[in-house]
Amino acid sequence: MIPSSPTLERVAKGELCAGCGLCAGLSRGAIAMETAEPGYSRPVQKAPLAPDIEQVVATACPGSVVAPWMRAPERHPSWGPWHRTLTGYAGDSSVRHAASSGGAISALLIEAMASGLVERVLHVVADPDNPTRNIMHWSHSPQEIIEGAGSRYAASSPLAFMDEALDDGRRFAFVGKPCDVSAVRQLALSDPRVDRQIPIKLSFFCGGLPAHAGADRIIRAMGLEPEEVTAFRYRGNGWPGLTRARTADGRLGEMRYAESWGRHLSAQVQFRCKICPDAVGGVADIACADAWYGGESGYPSFDEQDGRSLIMSRTAVGEALLDGALRSGALVAEPLDIKEVDLMQPAQARRKRLVGSRLAASAILFQPRPAMKGLDVAVASRHATLQEKAKNFIGTARRIVLGRR
Ligand SMILES: Cc1cc2nc3c(=O)[nH]c(=O)nc-3n(C[C@H](O)[C@H](O)[C@H](O)COP(=O)(O)OP(=O)(O)OC[C@H]3O[C@@H](n4cnc5c(N)ncnc54)[C@H](O)[C@@H]3O)c2cc1C
Ligand code: SF4
Ligand code: SF4
Repeated sequence: MIPSSPTLERVAKGELCAGCGLCAGLSRGAIAMETAEPGYSRPVQKAPLAPDIEQVVATACPGSVVAPWMRAPERHPSWGPWHRTLTGYAGDSSVRHAASSGGAISALLIEAMASGLVERVLHVVADPDNPTRNIMHWSHSPQEIIEGAGSRYAASSPLAFMDEALDDGRRFAFVGKPCDVSAVRQLALSDPRVDRQIPIKLSFFCGGLPAHAGADRIIRAMGLEPEEVTAFRYRGNGWPGLTRARTADGRLGEMRYAESWGRHLSAQVQFRCKICPDAVGGVADIACADAWYGGESGYPSFDEQDGRSLIMSRTAVGEALLDGALRSGALVAEPLDIKEVDLMQPAQARRKRLVGSRLAASAILFQPRPAMKGLDVAVASRHATLQEKAKNFIGTARRIVLGRR
């Protein structure tokens, strides 16, 4: 029998894996990422892990440790550290239209390449062979960055070939979910190549990662079968943009975002997301989100509009890139009062204030939890009512006991 990694065992026991792929990427072939039911990316160990690799995985895996927020002039228990909070959109209207919200991430990536800060971009795009799924892609031009724009509510393991990417020696920008960027920050503590070669790390507010079963349900609800779909967009091409599927023989399916996320995708979110202490990209250089006013449901209270992103610069490096993008016109933006973010992202604020109660339920049932210091979890918890704390404590405990996390 293969001796299994203590970190991976602990993470698996607590259902804490986020699917980032870091363990596989560092493992020199000992771990592979595979798809596990109902459609999450999960590590499978094939050979023993060297002790030095085990140590790095233990300190960088986001199921084991979450990177602490860095110092910044401002800090908010839900919204993280920040230098500037803005709303805006890409100066190029084709970027704005193609993107998920206002195209801020794509505009910043294009600026990072145009300014010479990076030579290329590592980000997620649709898998051409299976368009509801994701693959990692190197973009070398604005056109490729635009083709990769849009949110992809499906598993990806961006760090599964990080070691290989860092071996290459060229500088690149990285876009990942907040947990992916946490893993990159923690990896940087032991690997000097990270900060040398990834001078800019971008992220977004993340409501959680659904299993592939969620996309399959959407397609069936459209009257199509998943295997006949040859093109699929979760959203974008407008704001919020429709979820669209197309088959080889030209049949089309369409669904509004409120239905695709609200009825199908959100029900399939993995457990790690429900206790996520930093789903706002607090350790990225810049994090973006939807700058919409959606009410408690988290859905936009409008029909289609021109996109608008919430933009939070969090580090000096992020500030410099943001400045450059505003000066060159790649990005158009104006300051936003931080209190407005409470109105734009109520679902994120709610989860943050309830993470403490959900973790307490895990603790009394002797379940492993990720270490999460320096993320203001206790501060945010003070804003939860006794009733919501109790409800979430009991709900989490019940799901753990029933094995239905
Ligand atoms: C799983 C998920 C959950 C989200 N939850 C929220 C939320 O709760 N609140 C909110 O305001 N916004 C959420 N978003 C983000 C939001 O949809 C937009 O990404 C954000 O508004 C930035 O838009 P943009 O127009 O600036 O990005 P774009 O210019 O469209 O660029 C998006 C970039 O993100 C990358 N990307 C897309 N999908 C993934 C993925 N799965 N993993 C890593 N990178 C990816 C693309 O490669 C692209 O470079 C979520 C996105 C995802 C993928
Ligand atoms: S969260 Fe990432 S590093 Fe941790 S076990 Fe899962 S894939 Fe591996
Ligand atoms: S909610 Fe947190 S753990 Fe889940 S995918 Fe998003 S950043 Fe990762």
